[in-house]
Parts: sequence; C-alpha cells; structure tokens
Amino acid sequence: MDSEDNLENLGNEIKDYAESKGIKIIEGFFIKETNQIISKKEDFKEFLNLVADSNSKSIILDIKRFNESFFESEKEIKENSDKINQIKEKYKTYVEKPFQIRIGWLKEGFSISFEETADWFVKFIEEQEEIETIEQDDKLSVCEECGEKFRDFKLGFLDSSEVEKVCPKCKSKKQKEAEEIIKEISEKLSEEDAFIKCKNSFEREFYLERNYPDIIKNEFISMSKLTQRAKALRDFKARKV
Ligand SMILES: [Zn+2]
Repeated sequence: MDSEDNLENLGNEIKDYAESKGIKIIEGFFIKETNQIISKKEDFKEFLNLVADSNSKSIILDIKRFNESFFESEKEIKENSDKINQIKEKYKTYVEKPFQIRIGWLKEGFSISFEETADWFVKFIEEQEEIETIEQDDKLSVCEECGEKFRDFKLGFLDSSEVEKVCPKCKSKKQKEAEEIIKEISEKLSEEDAFIKCKNSFEREFYLERNYPDIIKNEFISMSKLTQRAKALRDFKARKV
C-alpha cells in the first residue's frame, strides 16, 4: 500500500494540521447531502487554511471505513460466485481500513466538503460493477426474429417453456401480422363448409393442419378468434343473401 493510498495516515495528518490551525474537529458523519458543496481543492491543507481564515473554525471529520457488507451486492448474483470470491479474497485486507475521508466545513447553512477516496476503493467498485454488468448480459435473450438481445422479464419467474423467443418489438409486429392473417383466412374459411361443420376445436385443428399448415405453426394466431370470425362472417353473409 503506497502512502497516498493510506487514508489512515491522512486522517491523522488532517487532525494534526487542523489542531495546529486552531480548528475544532467534530468526528461524525453526514446523513443528508443537502446544501453540500464539494471543494475542488486538491490539498487538504489548502482547504483547512480557508477554514482557519474564516470566522467559522469547526469541521466535521467523516472517516468511512470499509467493511464486509461491501461484498454483498445490491443485485442478485448467483453465477459469478467465483469472481465474487476472488474479489473478496483480494480486498478483505482492507476491511476496517478507511476508504474515504470527508471534511465538512459548516458555513452559513452550507456544508463545504473536501473528499479523498482511496484508489483501491475506486478499483474495488469498478470490479464489483464489472461482475454486475456480466450478470446482466447473461439475463438477455436473443430474439429469434431480428437477432437483437433483449431483456426477457419472464425469465426466472416461470419455467423455461414460458421464455419469450422474440423481442417486444418483433412481438407486436407479429401480433399485428397475425390480425391481418386472421381477417384474410377467416374470410376463406367462412366459405368452406367442411370447416364450418367441424364439431369441436380438435376437428378444426385437423382441418387447419391439412389445409392451412402455416396457421397452426403461427403461435400468434388465436384459433378461437379465427373460428369465431369465420362463423360470424358465415352468418353475416347468410343473412344478407
Ligand atoms: Zn426482435
């Protein structure tokens, strides 16, 4: 660990420097981040000099320490447990070490802050996020129609037979197409006695299998809708004649 990364030392340096400048230190932490201004000053001494030169010579010193709970991801991660363990192994030496130090200077209702974050912590967050991104990609399905990746919200909730095969865009396109096919085919079926005379859905299915195999294969076409429309058309035409 190089000296720049050692926030433990930095915390002590801040305390010593503040004391030497007559600045009161309140050790605590920030709950709300309202009215907070983050100072661009790169050196804590420059920042504390500002405080020392003002009429409000007290600061809040917030030393945030790394702990085990950082290894628990917000998102559900199951498949990448190996990588999670690798990260744990790599960063467990930092448990209890400060990962961020914040100096808050309370001035006229504002909290003007100076922040220093450990480089190892920034890297830790990056590695953690990388796993979460990989995990998200795993949950994407590939659309059978257009080949685009899409998020299947059914995934994981129901059994695999319920998994969507096409993306929402292609699905609505397919549904619209199905509506047109239903209009067209029901028109034909209304003229076909053998179909109208079918006694039940099984017979109608046999009939369609033999005469309109594409209809049966198309999962977006509702058989009952097709039948109802064909019969309604038949009745409608019979009345008109
Ligand atoms: Zn698609």
